Amino acid sequence: MRNEVNLFGCSPAELAEHLARSGQPAFRGGQLFQWMHRHGCMDFAQMTNLPLALRASLASAFRLESLDLHQRQQSSDGSVKYLFRLADGATIEAVYLEMNHGVTLCISSQVGCIQGCSFCLTARMGFVRNLSAAEMVGQVSAIRADRSLEPPFNVVMMGMGEPLLNLANTLRTLEILTHPQGYGLSAKRITVSTSGHVRNLLELGKLAKLPRIAISLNATTDELRDQLMPVNRQWKIAELIAACRSLPLGSGDRLTFEYVLLGGINDTTQDAKRLVSLLGDLSCRVNLIPFNATPELPYRQPDSASLEAFLAILERASLRATVRWSKGRDVGAACGQLATPFQGPSLSQRV
Ligand code: SAH
Ligand code: SF4
Repeated sequence: MRNEVNLFGCSPAELAEHLARSGQPAFRGGQLFQWMHRHGCMDFAQMTNLPLALRASLASAFRLESLDLHQRQQSSDGSVKYLFRLADGATIEAVYLEMNHGVTLCISSQVGCIQGCSFCLTARMGFVRNLSAAEMVGQVSAIRADRSLEPPFNVVMMGMGEPLLNLANTLRTLEILTHPQGYGLSAKRITVSTSGHVRNLLELGKLAKLPRIAISLNATTDELRDQLMPVNRQWKIAELIAACRSLPLGSGDRLTFEYVLLGGINDTTQDAKRLVSLLGDLSCRVNLIPFNATPELPYRQPDSASLEAFLAILERASLRATVRWSKGRDVGAACGQLATPFQGPSLSQRV
């Protein structure tokens, strides 16, 4: 019979609890955590500082599973798109990116997405399910092994799905990635990107160590944002910005606002001016992302004149802004291009 609990997605406290039930002292949980997440060891038998009998009883009582790498696609710009097949047959994608400030791994938080943004290919999949923490950390661990990558690196939750609608597993993933016995990443190296689910954004804001937070704003009027991002029908722009203002950022920390530029839709000089009045006095930076076109989506990239005019207005108002041309476009790895067909359980799992 398949063991129910996969220890790979457990926080250190949860590991200690599992071990305490078999009469083991708490520090064994720390050792196990270190093997999995610092050393990338996925075999109980090789955890040489654990007693032999414990290794055997762990192997018979628990699973230790990361993710199976199914496909790797190398882009001409150095980024790599990874496809993972999950135990139930669903597939998800993650991207390895080489940026100016080092390596960044873009990971998924859900299979599909329920948010229905009209410019995003993931939305077309609908929502299939949340990823477990094991599946979220598993993307990091599998890419790390594939590229022989050592921390520190950056992780952005900007792949498929809305991380704040999978809050518990997102928080557990943050804990595993930042824990000193695990990857030991500073919370500042991890970005949680959200379409603006205000209640859960405020919940995230209660963390002792905040990750970087990116808000996908994408429009400056409720009328347009209601159309582009249905989440806006529940949480209006004013409410979202008020929540952003209330986040307890450290001194010198900035929020990021992402703004996908859709040619002829939200890229006018009026939009830029409204963006300045919305964000002008916030500690933030703006990432302008020219729309990544795919035949399935009814939008176009902004032309370069409107992009430049837009940027100039932000700069004149001293709003920090950068244009982020997405990487990996030739292999469908760019923002909003991640989508996979859902496959049901494979034959072997159904019998
Ligand atoms: N659900 C979260 C994180 C995943 S989407 C969120 O919405 O923030 C990550 C980013 O990709 C978001 O900023 C989103 O606005 C952007 N994006 C989605 N579709 C895009 C497209 N076709 N072109 C460019 N960026 C896109
Ligand atoms: Fe979901 Fe983000 Fe895509 Fe919107 S942009 S559908 S929230 S993944």
